[in-house]
Amino acid sequence: MTDCIFCKIAQNSLPSEIVFENENFLAFKDIFPRAPIHYLIIPKNHIESIASDNSEEIAGELIRAAKKIAEDKKISGYKLVFNVGEAGGQIVPHLHLHFLAGGDSELKI
Ligand code: AMP
Ligand code: ZN
Repeated sequence: MTDCIFCKIAQNSLPSEIVFENENFLAFKDIFPRAPIHYLIIPKNHIESIASDNSEEIAGELIRAAKKIAEDKKISGYKLVFNVGEAGGQIVPHLHLHFLAGGDSELKI
């Protein structure tokens, strides 16, 4: 998708602070962090959201990437959040998993 900012980040045509990358997935720092550690984990290929058809397998891969990041960075506890659709708080229509860690009270749900 030419107009999608996360596709542009995945294709390196927009800068980001990458924290993890493999063939199909990328994780980078959220530009407006809501926690001391706030990463976004995305598939490199465009898919809109968890509500899209066949998102389940990709969601599993995003969680696998989150676990790898936590292990590599020795982060013992974290939160994983999918915002789904505009009414669910999703602003960027390219599937992403929020990885949040550090701090405390603001992260409580
Ligand atoms: P959501 O509300 O779930 O769609 O979250 C989108 C997230 O993308 C927000 O937390 C934004 O701060 C973040 N974001 C938007 N543009 C960029 C960017 N260019 N680089 C890194 N994070 C971004
Ligand atoms: Zn995209």
